[in-house]
Amino acid sequence: MSESEVRASVAHGFPAEQFCGEDEEPPGKSRRHPLWRDIPDHQWNDWRWQSQNAIRSIRQLKGLIRFTPDEIEAIGNLETEYKTAIPPYYFSLINPDDMDDPIRLQSIPSPLEKTNPSGYELVDPLEEDKDSPVPGLTHRYPDRALLVTTHVCSMYCRFCTRKRATMVRGGWDSISRDDERMIEYVRAHSEIRDVIVSGGDPLTLPVAKLRFFLENLAAIPHVDVVRIGTRVPVTLPQRLFDQSLVDLLSSVGKVWVQTHFNHPREITVESARVCMALLRAGVPVNNHTVLLRGVNDSLDTMRQLMRGLLKIKVRPYYLFHCDPVIGAGHFRTSVWKGMEIMEGLRGHMSGLGIPTYVVDSPHGGGKIPVMPNYVVSASDDAVVLRNYEGMLVRYQAEDKPLQTSDQTRTRGVSSLLQGSKSALIPENSERMVRRQLNLLTTSNVGSAGCQSEVVEKEPLMPLERSVDGFARE
Ligand code: SF4
Repeated sequence: MSESEVRASVAHGFPAEQFCGEDEEPPGKSRRHPLWRDIPDHQWNDWRWQSQNAIRSIRQLKGLIRFTPDEIEAIGNLETEYKTAIPPYYFSLINPDDMDDPIRLQSIPSPLEKTNPSGYELVDPLEEDKDSPVPGLTHRYPDRALLVTTHVCSMYCRFCTRKRATMVRGGWDSISRDDERMIEYVRAHSEIRDVIVSGGDPLTLPVAKLRFFLENLAAIPHVDVVRIGTRVPVTLPQRLFDQSLVDLLSSVGKVWVQTHFNHPREITVESARVCMALLRAGVPVNNHTVLLRGVNDSLDTMRQLMRGLLKIKVRPYYLFHCDPVIGAGHFRTSVWKGMEIMEGLRGHMSGLGIPTYVVDSPHGGGKIPVMPNYVVSASDDAVVLRNYEGMLVRYQAEDKPLQTSDQTRTRGVSSLLQGSKSALIPENSERMVRRQLNLLTTSNVGSAGCQSEVVEKEPLMPLERSVDGFARE
């Protein structure tokens, strides 16, 4: 299909079924927008071709995706302020018929970037620059340092926390002059054990410069871990089809990759392939996700994402609340939304797939974990804990005799603290129903005189209806 045919198909409705794949389990199929259908595979799989053909202007976008006239004007005005780059591979993941497509929202400029809805958004919301003893280096936590090594990314995420650097034309041109000073600082601070090489995206650096950072940092005896923060496996996996780059990361020994999948549709055959290549090369891969309105602020999407990551053996590490950065306020959700999602993950899927939800604190306070409350009450002798089903249980950590003085008879949570009850179990708990069924099945097998061994079950706690919706032991 020629470019003019593609433009015509945009005007008359896209063959969207080629792009959707909503029902697909990640990793999803390889996709290619019709504009690039005739590009030979060797070019499509070449990161240089992908980078050279990245979409970088509203003029290119207008021919490929639908916009309202107001949007075109607003986004055109934004062009002088923020950069855009979308490699054809990542662009092809967009469903062009869906104005709210989650891949579109992350990559295509929005007029909302001009607004500052709460007035609370800041240029440097994490105050990284204030904790920067050397240009480009942030030393905030006692044993960690963050190095911003470039302002270039393979794709410019519209929600980026470092929009001030990555998306402003010119960026921090002083970084390269200070590379050696950053290394010297780490060398001189023996308390630093973990260095995060970030940006921008360090996997966009020329190999010689990347090698300079990795080998110098890894050679410092007190540095145990060198983490590379990169979205390349998500937005330009072709960069890691280059075995020499994987070999470099592997040869350094201390390198971990911290990547950044936000939506299950980003987990493709290509991204799975490069994550697997890193793992085979002995480079652990962890994932950051940012909670983004319209992109992944639903339990269903988040479960698919975490399960998809486990399938490709990438460990979900952090779920970040979206930072209050100017130009990204429209992506922010309430903290309650994040807690609601965490409530729906814990207990419902393997702990391996559950990230830590964190709010990055204003005033440079760093990451603060936020989660639903699982400690309901406490006494000198015991705590009352809540599980994901709503079961309340007395938990006695120390080996102490139970204090049973006269005591006023209490009920509910207080009775758990008192020790007169050990658990309050929701009446309609599926697990307890399953137990009952297991017991019935087991006793039926036994009474039928089956030769197989009859498993002895622990007796069930009898459940009795209660006014507060809990069954009582
Ligand atoms: S890749 Fe990372 S640094 Fe670059 S724009 Fe996206 S979030 Fe920002």
